[in-house]
Amino acid sequence: MRVLLPENIVFERECPLDALIGASKRMHSVLPLLCSGCGLCIPACPVDCMKLVPTAHVWTNRDADDARTRYHARLQRLLKQSLPRTLPMAKQDETHKRRQAVQEALSKARARRLQWAQQRGEKNG
Ligand code: SF4
Repeated sequence: MRVLLPENIVFERECPLDALIGASKRMHSVLPLLCSGCGLCIPACPVDCMKLVPTAHVWTNRDADDARTRYHARLQRLLKQSLPRTLPMAKQDETHKRRQAVQEALSKARARRLQWAQQRGEKNG
């Protein structure tokens, strides 16, 4: 099955088995030997041109094992791709927590100094 898609970055990501190949605004293809026929790509297709058709390929246990391996590899890849975006946020949180701790310590020190000054003023006055 060959499809031409104008906006397909999200579309490509819909396939849990990496059976869709193509580039943004370019022709996309389904790799029939990798496709399980799950149908997830059908509602995601931006130009509504996908459909499931029967093939002569009989799905074996080996195919299922390979599909599972590809699925887990895909999840690992997507997780790895998302890490650079999450790390700076984690660092920002850490910096924010440190700043908050410093501000709290400074506030306590100011309050203590003010208390001492008031106690000295009461003694002297
Ligand atoms: S039917 Fe499922 S496995 Fe096949 S190309 Fe579409 S999303 Fe991928």
